[in-house]
Amino acid sequence: MKNWSEIFKRAELEKWAVPHFNISNLEQLRAIITSCVKLKSPVMIGTSEGERRFIGGRQAVALLRAFREETGIPIILNADHHKSFEAVKEAVDAGYDSILFDGSALSFEENVKTTLRVMEYAKSKNPEITVEGELGYLRGSSEILNEKIKLEASDFTNPDQAREFVNLTGVNRLAIAVGNIHGISLDEPMLDFERIRAIHEKNIDTILVLHGGSGISDGDLKKAINVGIRNVHINTEVRAAYTNALRKSLVNHPDDVTPYKIFPPVSEAVQALVEKKLVAFGSINKI
Ligand SMILES: [Zn+2]
Repeated sequence: MKNWSEIFKRAELEKWAVPHFNISNLEQLRAIITSCVKLKSPVMIGTSEGERRFIGGRQAVALLRAFREETGIPIILNADHHKSFEAVKEAVDAGYDSILFDGSALSFEENVKTTLRVMEYAKSKNPEITVEGELGYLRGSSEILNEKIKLEASDFTNPDQAREFVNLTGVNRLAIAVGNIHGISLDEPMLDFERIRAIHEKNIDTILVLHGGSGISDGDLKKAINVGIRNVHINTEVRAAYTNALRKSLVNHPDDVTPYKIFPPVSEAVQALVEKKLVAFGSINKI
């Protein structure tokens, strides 16, 4: 993916971040792509293991290909947080462009070992595929959490260990834990900007990924990008915009049974959210 390494190089040079949005269905995907075409932003689309099984891996690959051909914008499909070699293999075999092997629950040695195994398999099937690793512990899950999340010092990614992990595995991107969590908790996460800067300085050739972008203010997202984040994941906020608008639309159209009459306000809600994020990430007018 020569094109994509150039996109990330430009993002590094100009200090902006490539957006990564998760999807569960075609309606969300179409809304996201519509906004990215409108604002001229490259985009990564992700499915977790659960989202991939819901859509179908081969179906997700075919949908992405169709949008890529139709719109001409740079879009890649990422297997987000795949937690075992077997799950990664399913995604690679289905034709995904990118993989996040999430070995963050494993020991450092096991994480390195399995990431290497994933890397070897993925590249043997598709030399163009890109692989992300994860180091540090991310709490939470991609939903609205009615609690505060307490982080431990040991959750955070250590800058030297990050360098060692990248050297040992050769991953293209690294997901880091710097005060971010998955989902939206009762209080806004306190990002450790100095730690992001330190990890970035030691890993200048690696794309640093901020997961759990939902629930982080635009101001903090901009600060994180300014000190080295080049890829931000948003999932929960897409889910919330979609589901809240769908609930409302169903109430507003009690006699309608036609999906394409019920869904336009839902698409509009997702598009509005995506456009706000693209502006915050600085990825607009880049294609
Ligand atoms: Zn994530």
